[in-house]
This record gives sequence, structure tokens and C-alpha cells, in this order.
Amino acid sequence: MTELLDNYVCGRRAPGRGDGTTLYDPVTGAALGRVSNEGVDLGSAFAYARETAGPALRALGYARRAAMLGDVVKTLQANRDAYFEIAIANSGTTRGDSAIDIEGSIYTLGQYARWGASLGEARALADGGRHKLAKDGVFQAQHVLVPAQGVALLINAFNFPAWGLWEKAAAALLSGMPVIVKPATVTAWLAQRMVADVVEAGILPEGALSILCGSGAGLLDQLRPFDVVSFTGSSATATEIGRHRAATAGAVRVNVEADSLNGALLLPDEGVDSPAFGLLVREVVREMTIKSGQKCTAIRRILVPERLYRATSDALAAKLASITVGNPRNEKVRMGSLVSRAQLERVTVGVAELRSEAACIHDGAAQVLVDADPTVAACLGPTLLGLAQPDRADAVHRIEVFGPVATLMPYRDVGHALQLIRRGEGSLVTSLYGSDPRALASAAVELADSSGRVHVISPSVGETHTGHGNVMPQSLHGGPGRAGGGQELGGLRALGLYHQRAAVQADGAVLDQLGAMPMTL
Ligand code: NAP
Repeated sequence: MTELLDNYVCGRRAPGRGDGTTLYDPVTGAALGRVSNEGVDLGSAFAYARETAGPALRALGYARRAAMLGDVVKTLQANRDAYFEIAIANSGTTRGDSAIDIEGSIYTLGQYARWGASLGEARALADGGRHKLAKDGVFQAQHVLVPAQGVALLINAFNFPAWGLWEKAAAALLSGMPVIVKPATVTAWLAQRMVADVVEAGILPEGALSILCGSGAGLLDQLRPFDVVSFTGSSATATEIGRHRAATAGAVRVNVEADSLNGALLLPDEGVDSPAFGLLVREVVREMTIKSGQKCTAIRRILVPERLYRATSDALAAKLASITVGNPRNEKVRMGSLVSRAQLERVTVGVAELRSEAACIHDGAAQVLVDADPTVAACLGPTLLGLAQPDRADAVHRIEVFGPVATLMPYRDVGHALQLIRRGEGSLVTSLYGSDPRALASAAVELADSSGRVHVISPSVGETHTGHGNVMPQSLHGGPGRAGGGQELGGLRALGLYHQRAAVQADGAVLDQLGAMPMTL
């Protein structure tokens, strides 16, 4: 039997009991390890984090907590080779795709270490300016943000075991909130190893960073008022969390990052020979293939002017035909596997649903695999569908197939394109491709109500833009509607989730003494 990976709570190893759940290599089918939190005293774990680690963290102040994030970066950098091995084995991702998760997490932590240093030893953060409340101007109001006094429970999806952990933990720890992370079981190994390395390095106050691998049963029951849940995963689980009494009666704050049917839109004035057309084709292929399309921000729906539908279909199909798929350890392989055979099954079912209304332009199921057994590996080639009549369709605007799958559709005019994008009912990101700044800006503002981020690609940024699906810590991550309504990152805005806002009403002389550091959230 494989090794049982340790949980860490109260600053120490906390081995689970029983057989646990086995983690597999999704390409070879090899068993890699097991996870279990059976027998771990959840009540003590949450109480220790809340009552011992929280006060210890908050006693340090922002700048020292930021410096600790810098030390976490150094520890992760020192162990990165092991992380790549784990990611390739447990997530089935190529080295390049693994880097998006691992290096992305280190970069994000590093940014928060830098931004946090600027907050110095502030006791509170000033939110906006003062408001005069009385005629003589003496009695005033100042909004302040102070660290929340509970625990941040971070529940993550399977696709970004490293980045998903640290993009949340960076903001929580900098805010002074202890963290308990519950990684998705199927890819838990990378998060477990990173937390083990950081806890063993003794960087943070004891119990400020905990990890519970395996079942999420009972975690929500531990939540108390002033705790925070930051969740990434499916809408179904998000709904379950939102209905839990911790959220309904306890008013525990819940941030949700969920499904999203992100769109890519080529503006109407572009032609087949225009740079914008080439940029759209390149970005769609990247988005469909990075991490086998298992990115919440990946492009799912591609909208092009009617007259360019055929040309786009041909250009995308030609590029997708050249993608090699299979064992990520083989250097010839461009795209690795899905995360598990179960995920392959879910994607296969989802593609069948989409194909009930869309035609197949490029069939990933027919892909010959490199260095992988198709009866064992969770590999699927990129699959492009086409929908000539998008108005009549339903599934393509409703079902997120979480794999290398996207659907191309034609639009009549910009109004029609925006209407089709909105049928996704709220997205994490929409990308626009064009060359007219006025038309691009107009579409960006039109879409800002339904997309958490609008990524505008014009020829001037063709080589330098950061990628449709790449989440930069400087910009907001999260979207309205079915995307969950959550907000993460966006620079120091991320601290808002882990702080409590209060209005202090007093003589201006008292407000001068609050020690509140002005900041833009
Ligand atoms: P999921 O099945 O909802 O699981 C997400 C996490 O919730 C896992 O850690 C899971 O644990 C845990 N969980 C499930 N039930 C729970 C409960 N009752 N109490 C506490 N925790 C519970 O989602 P997934 O399949 O891992 O991820 C795929 C989905 O995530 C996709 O729909 C994708 O769009 C979305 N996603 C969104 C973003 C974003 O930023 N918006 C990013 C990535 C993924 P187990 O693994 O142990 O079941």
C-alpha cells in the first residue's frame, strides 16, 4: 500500500487513519499515495488556528507578515524540482503547464510580499476619506478595515493545487488570518507537500497554516461567525456551502469562484488577413490546450463575424491537428492528460451533450496518443465544435465542459455577439480581438457588467499581453452570476475579503489617532 500523506494542524503533523483515498497518476494509472483526515480532531484544529495562531499573526503587523510571505517564496523556490515531479505525476500536466501552477503560485506570493511591505506597521487600513457629519465639521466618519478575527477556510478545485492554495493564502496571511486549506482530493499531493515544507521551515506562527487532505465532511460545521470561506469549484458544491447553516445563520462570509463559459470575440471589422484574426486563432488554441482546457478561465465559446466563420473553423482545425497529446514526460507531447479517468468520463459526457446541438469540427477523441495507453490514460485531444445557429442553442450556453473543448459560433453584428456572450450568465473573463481602440473600448465597457475581467488584444499588445486565461495578481479574478459572484486578487483589493469594514464616527482629532494607513482597495 502507498504512503499516507500527513495532514498538518496546530503547527504539527496530524496523520489520518484508515485506508484513505488513493491518488493516481492519470497517465500511467500508478498509485502515488493516499490521503485521509479520519481521526483528526477538527474542533481543536479550528480552535487552535482561531485562538492561538490568529492573535500571533496579527501581533506582527502587515510588513512582518509580508516578509514571512517572502520567506515562504524562498522555501518553495528551494523545493521546486520536487513540485514539478509531483505535478507531472499527479496532475498529468506537461512541464510547461505545471509551471503555470507552480511558478504562478510563487509569483503571486512574491507580489503580495512586495505590496504588503508598503503597509508598514499600520493597525488598520483607511477605506476612502473622511465624511463630515456635523455642521461645524468636527464630528466626522472614517471607514476602516481591520483584520477579521476568525479562520480562513480555503477549499480548492483540482486544477490548480499550488496556485489555488497560494493565491488565497497570500492575501489571508498578509491580512492576519490563519489558514486551513482543503485541497481537492484527486490532486492533493502538491498542496500537501508545499504546506508540509512551509510548516517544517517554521516561517509562520504555529498553526497559522494548516492542511486537511481528503474528505471535506464536517469542515463547514466548524465555522463560527468572523470565519471566512474562500471556495473554488463547481456551482453544485458552492450551492451546498451557501446553504450550510454557518453561512445562513452564522453569516460566515463565503467567496465563490465557480463555473464559467468564457467567451472570445473577434470584432466585426477584422478580416482573415488581419493581425487580430491571427491573434484570436493563436489564443483559442492556447486556451483549449493549456492544462488540457482544465482552467476555469479557458475559452469555451468563440464568436466571429458570420463571413469569417468558415475561415476561422479551418484555421483552428489546422492548428489543433498539430497538437501532440499523451504522456507529459515525453518531450514531443504538447498537451498532457485530464486529471483522472473520472474527469475524462465527465468531459466525454459533456461533449456528447454539446454535440446534440453542435457539429464537430475537430474530434479530439480520435487523437492518437504519444507514449500513453488509451485504455489507461485520461488523455483526450482538443475538441472543437461548431454551431451555425447559436440563437437556437441551449447546452452550449449552459454547460461548462471542463476539458480541451470549445465551440465556435457566428454572429450578425456586435449587439448580437454581446447578447450571445451574456447568455453565459456571468463569466470570469471575456477576450476581445480587434484593432480599433474605440470599438474595443466600447465592447469592453459593455461586457464589464457580465465579465470579471475583459482582456483586450489588439496588435500593439499581440506579443506582450498576459493571456486570456492567465490570472495575474494585479487584476481581479472572479465574475458575476454563474461564475460565483466572488472576487479575488486585484492587488491589495484581495485583502478586503479577510478584513472587516467599520465606520468610526468621532472628532477628527480622534480619527487622527486611529493609525489607519490609506490604501486603495
Ligand atoms: P468540486 O467537485 O466542486 O470540488 C471543489 C472542492 O470542494 C474540492 O476540494 C472538494 O473536495 C470540495 N468539496 C466538495 N464537497 C464539499 C463539502 N460538502 N464540504 C467541503 N468541501 C467540499 O469541483 P472540482 O471538480 O474540484 O473543480 C472543477 C470545477 O471548479 C469546475 O466547474 C471549474 O469551473 C471550477 N473552477 C473554478 C475556478 C475559478 O476560479 N472560478 C477555478 C478552478 C475551477 P473533494 O475533492 O474531496 O471532493
